[in-house]
Amino acid sequence: MDRFLVVGAGLSGATIARLLADVDCKVTIIDKRETIGGNVYDYVDKNGITVQKYGPHIFHTNIKEVFDFLSQFTEWDVYEHKVLANIYGRLVPVPFNLNSIDKIFSKEEAAELKDVLLKEVGLNNKVPIIELKKHENKKVRSFADFVYKNIFYKYTMKQWGFKPEELGSAVMNRVPVSVSYDDRYFQDEFQYMPKKGFTELVTNILKHKNITLKLGVDCKTLIKIENGEILYNGKPFDGKVIYTGAIDDLFDFKFGKLPYRSLKFAFKTKNCPSYQQAAVVNYTTTKRYTRISEFSKFACGQKDKTVIVKEYSVPWKNGRIAYYPIPIKENQEHYNKYAEEAAKVKNLYLLGRLANYKYINMDVAVKNAFDLFNSIKSEISSDEE
Ligand code: FAD
Ligand code: UDP
Repeated sequence: MDRFLVVGAGLSGATIARLLADVDCKVTIIDKRETIGGNVYDYVDKNGITVQKYGPHIFHTNIKEVFDFLSQFTEWDVYEHKVLANIYGRLVPVPFNLNSIDKIFSKEEAAELKDVLLKEVGLNNKVPIIELKKHENKKVRSFADFVYKNIFYKYTMKQWGFKPEELGSAVMNRVPVSVSYDDRYFQDEFQYMPKKGFTELVTNILKHKNITLKLGVDCKTLIKIENGEILYNGKPFDGKVIYTGAIDDLFDFKFGKLPYRSLKFAFKTKNCPSYQQAAVVNYTTTKRYTRISEFSKFACGQKDKTVIVKEYSVPWKNGRIAYYPIPIKENQEHYNKYAEEAAKVKNLYLLGRLANYKYINMDVAVKNAFDLFNSIKSEISSDEE
């Protein structure tokens, strides 16, 4: 009989718990927070506005099986995300595209630039900024330098403390320069927001007779890894643990702390129906914060008031939430030491953004849970009723 302990009730933990529960396994899922959903947790404030406590989250995917799975637990509102960059007070669409060129350059300059890009890169093609900077055409390179300087350099330094070229493609390929008039931030086939929010979605995922949820429980108070074995309340644990927290924390930082970026959020309710021209405005040249998100623009219908959040990126240290792994080679090698240690523990499985130390979106978190489920399915013997 298999018993599962899932650590972390974020999207990764909730998905794997549900998949296991659906094949009659008994699952206990715990989270050290008092809320479910991990970083996708949201709540409705006193003005009826859905506020995302841990920053702006927009669902988008090309993975149909992920969309179909989540659709069992929520209805959706169609939502196509648009972002503006504030370049010294002028607002232009990002990903930087042909409309952005029209907004920031004179008519003649814009026409010339667009001509070159259409010839050299081609309509509807997207190129990561680091590649565009190395283009063989001199005019394309000089355009790329402009975009690098005004869109990527300062924002990336604020967000990561690294220059764009020091970060891997996992970061810099996310928002490529786009030779098109498509202003949408994502081009994915499925782009929606859950009608009643992400917390409601995760609540429904976890609503199952085989799932027991315990909040406000740090797994370190229950389990310990000693000599390659999981101890539960001091005794050998013969079930399986699926861990979605930070891996260095699980191993008591025995190889040193892994670097992460944390965030500070400054929320404000404004006494007006609309605060800014887009749901998210990135401050790519000025200000200490990286972006301002306006939650009421993520949903249908207007209210008299609106809620905004300014996002400040800071290094992670004890007491702060680790939001982003920093995907550079040196950190990956550091992470691998922990992953090797984890692989020695036969009934321990790592899942999610923190345990896998990967900069993944929500859809990939769900997809990775599917993959883990499929890989352990054959080892599972269902619990008897
Ligand atoms: P998490 O949500 O981090 O969940 C891990 C859970 O484990 C947490 O609840 C934590 O409390 C718990 N935990 C950790 N340690 C312990 C312990 N010792 N004991 C018990 N519990 C523990 N993705 C998109 O697709 N679209 C977006 O627009 C988007 N925007 C984002 C914006 C921000 C600011 C951030 C940070 C991420 C964004 N993402 C977005 C990514 C998305 O948040 C993740 O892909 C997804 O939430 C990962 O889920 P997870 O369950 O792996 O991790
Ligand atoms: N980025 C940037 N300027 C922008 C938008 C993005 O420099 O206007 C870079 C920055 O390094 C950022 C990364 O691209 O961290 C990924 O952006 P994304 O919007 O996907 O970040 P997330 O929403 O995951 O924080």
